Amino acid sequence: MGTATVIDGKALAQKLRQEVQGQVARLRRDERMTPGLAVILVGDDPASGIYVRSKAQQTEEAGMRSFVHRLPADVREEVVLTLVRGLNRDDRVHGILVQLPLPDQIRTDVVLQAVDPAKDVDGFHVVNIGRLAAGIEGAMVPCTPSGCMQLIKSVRPQLTGQRALIVGRSNIVGKPMALLLLAENCTVIIAHSRTFDLPGECRQADILIAAVGKPRLIRGNWIKPGAVIIDVGINRVDDASDGDKKRLQGDVAFDEAVEVAGAITPVPGGVGPMTVACLLRNTLLAACRSRTIDPSDL
Ligand code: NAD
Repeated sequence: MGTATVIDGKALAQKLRQEVQGQVARLRRDERMTPGLAVILVGDDPASGIYVRSKAQQTEEAGMRSFVHRLPADVREEVVLTLVRGLNRDDRVHGILVQLPLPDQIRTDVVLQAVDPAKDVDGFHVVNIGRLAAGIEGAMVPCTPSGCMQLIKSVRPQLTGQRALIVGRSNIVGKPMALLLLAENCTVIIAHSRTFDLPGECRQADILIAAVGKPRLIRGNWIKPGAVIIDVGINRVDDASDGDKKRLQGDVAFDEAVEVAGAITPVPGGVGPMTVACLLRNTLLAACRSRTIDPSDL
């Protein structure tokens, strides 16, 4: 039996979703406005299909409108761009999400940068990244790092001076995560595939965020006793009890880490549910901003 607090991402996400649901209900009643989220899914990647269905369902449960646009895997980039431009102009749509990955013939950067920054609920547009980096108000913050931040704060509200290590430097998770932790006055280090001594870096971290995509990369004896561990990794591995089945595993060896850490997120049930809840919150924020409504007044 481990000693760490297991951070319940499902419960925190449910709480956030309920908050959003209440605010959406008040927005509909008082402002006669229903926030809308459009999702673009290109191709038939099974995991992407599952994510999109789940996002659409949760959007509707929160009282918002969901618009899912499915395009074939061989669609031309121009068709995707035309759809994005149309959604940028559509008043019923307050948030636009392009499900990644996109097929090779489509330039991901070009599509993501075509999204109106005000509707960029994923926070991938350079305007939003720039605002986040510069600490300028009004950034749409990427959903996964935003969810991680709330998970961390649920067990460690005061982060000033803490040494935070992020393993992974992607634009989606690692880099924005570093900016958010810096804004909380952490001493931030980003490790990646070329880092010389990853175990040694990990052993010094008070807060450790793993966003790599390699099952059980981070071992229990790499962890500083009492550290907060956030496992972003989603890896599909063979189920030991049934070889035909797959199960989800994180980037951290949970069974080992739980013995050493102060708090840790499980996979599944940690970061994943928070990511979708933050997407709903960003959609609500985008809708409020389109009419200069302060969401805290709702
Ligand atoms: P990515 O492939 O874009 O980036 C992976 C990063 O890991 C790179 O920066 C690379 O330098 C680093 N890396 C690779 N091998 C390494 C090693 N041996 N040691 C140290 N660093 C190494 O991945 P991503 O999009 O940031 O996603 C990372 C993981 O998080 C994936 O498993 C993904 O499925 C998961 N993810 C989960 C959520 C969620 O909502 N829970 C959201 C996004 C991503």
